[in-house]
Amino acid sequence: MIFLSVAGITKRFGGVVANRNISFDVAAGELVGIIGPNGAGKSTLFEVITGFYRPETGEVRLQGQRLTGLSPDRVSRQGVARTFQKLRPFQGMTVLGNVTVGALQKSHDVKQARKEAQEILERVGLADKADAYARTLSTGQRKRLELARALATRPRLLLLDEVTGGVDQGSIPGLVSLVQDLHRAGITLLVIEHNMRVITAVAQRIVALYLGEVIADGPTEAVTRDRRVVEAYLGQAYAER
Ligand code: ADP
Ligand code: MG
Repeated sequence: MIFLSVAGITKRFGGVVANRNISFDVAAGELVGIIGPNGAGKSTLFEVITGFYRPETGEVRLQGQRLTGLSPDRVSRQGVARTFQKLRPFQGMTVLGNVTVGALQKSHDVKQARKEAQEILERVGLADKADAYARTLSTGQRKRLELARALATRPRLLLLDEVTGGVDQGSIPGLVSLVQDLHRAGITLLVIEHNMRVITAVAQRIVALYLGEVIADGPTEAVTRDRRVVEAYLGQAYAER
């Protein structure tokens, strides 16, 4: 059975078509990379899947059940978690507190939620920071905290928006192996990523977006060599010089 089905999604902002007729399926346990230059529509697609934006057309289904039309809270209860490109932990709360809030979505027993939060902090390598305030963390550690908060909701599907974005080079290998661990643990992942080294390390398959449309979908090897994909990235590289 198809695990995640994204079918004919179109999302506009005034005259801008941020997502144009986007369709792809994801099998259970797959890790799919989502790439594309700035403005391609990657984050918008995540907002649509998680119920923050309602698309004009199309629908998203998880194991056959329709997510489109549900509130973000209801989508989250269906087992979909995400991290944000722009980090937003509760700054004045401890690391453990932040993750406990996530765990309380699934368990209403505070003691149990704290215990789970602690286990997740071990899993993401933040156990020694449990009592630190979120605002004191480095960017790499905040990315781990975002991941921990998402994991605390026990997701079936995890969406990561630029997990290595803005972190120092030294923190990247650790984040890459963490994502690989989650994949090995059986979580289905959609991973938006700019760093091509990271994406080729973690993704077996890539969906490439450009100007709101899917321009390539297939094995990582093939998509990274696809002419339209290379041109889309080259165009941006030139524009940014
Ligand atoms: P990406 O994440 O690939 O960089 P986005 O999904 O953020 O791209 O943006 C896709 C397009 O939609 C861009 O042209 C962007 O300016 C526009 N867009 C995204 N969010 C909004 C919004 N809330 N309001 C208006 N335009 C938006
Ligand atoms: Mg984005």
